[in-house]
Amino acid sequence: MAEEMYRCLLCGEKFGTKRGLIIHKSKKHSTESQRRLNRLKNKPKKNRKEIEEILNDLRAQKEDIKKLLYHIEDGYRRAQISEETYEEIKRRNEQRLLEIYSEIDELEKVINSGDL
Ligand SMILES: [Zn+2]
Repeated sequence: MAEEMYRCLLCGEKFGTKRGLIIHKSKKHSTESQRRLNRLKNKPKKNRKEIEEILNDLRAQKEDIKKLLYHIEDGYRRAQISEETYEEIKRRNEQRLLEIYSEIDELEKVINSGDL
């Protein structure tokens, strides 16, 4: 049961220490694009280049999550992770995917509105 001690519930990676897990999370699952997105929303004058950069970042994140979900499912089938952990990782990432879809949608609307 010690298996689950410091497992990242976003990607399934395991760590020997809690500190290791915290560092991993801040590096690998940074919410930089979300912060940029929020800053952008508050700006009266929006910059197309900035929006496109965030869009590219979000699309890359989307692909990463899809790959990760595939990888995690494989790990579960090979019994490398428990069902509980698998379900939790899946749930969190699917939730993040939905957020990404709506963020992409929102930014595309800004670009298409020509309000730049
Ligand atoms: Zn992780």
